[in-house]
Amino acid sequence: MRLILLGPPGAGKGTQAARLMEKYNIPQLSTGDMLRAAVKAGTPTGLRAKSVMDAGGLVSDEIVVGIIADRIREADARNGFILDGFPRTVAQAEALDTLLARNDMRLDAIVELKVDEAALLARIEKRARETVAAGGVVRADDNPEAFKVRLDAYRAQTAPVSAYYAGKGGLKTVDGMAPIDAVTAAINGALGG
Ligand code: ADP
Repeated sequence: MRLILLGPPGAGKGTQAARLMEKYNIPQLSTGDMLRAAVKAGTPTGLRAKSVMDAGGLVSDEIVVGIIADRIREADARNGFILDGFPRTVAQAEALDTLLARNDMRLDAIVELKVDEAALLARIEKRARETVAAGGVVRADDNPEAFKVRLDAYRAQTAPVSAYYAGKGGLKTVDGMAPIDAVTAAINGALGG
């Protein structure tokens, strides 16, 4: 199973990806997680990406496409993967098409989580509070200023990715405002069981 989870920041992609990972025994490939790991490790990619990420902007297509090109060829991704946070621009979607074709891979589904924008900031703030309560470190971009930039980037650059896949066929839309288990059930239904 090779799938893409689309949706704005705070839509619940990470939560649903964790469940899909267990169900299908495939890895979640989150470019956000991979970039944060690169920042933490202080790699050249991390050093290039950090300030853009902290401000809520998008890292260059070249960097993220490079990361995904390597990652989808690793052994644990042989039976499939869940892309979370990628592609985030139409140029990335086109680059992904090329990468998949080169590796003889096909996408099984593209699932979009639809969420009211008004609910997103509240979700991000809740996540930050829960992280603090659990003794963790809040993401540098989980604050209202960076969140606004993230949402703007989503509207301008990522929303067109849904249209790109809708045009090709294979886009499934799920109500991301429903309770977590209901969203999971809807995704499973969209994937055929
Ligand atoms: P979100 O919770 O907003 O979905 P992610 O954890 O997916 O956030 O990503 C965090 C940040 O990492 C983004 O705001 C962006 O700076 C960077 N990033 C992640 N994936 C991509 C991508 N595919 N293209 C460009 N930048 C990305």
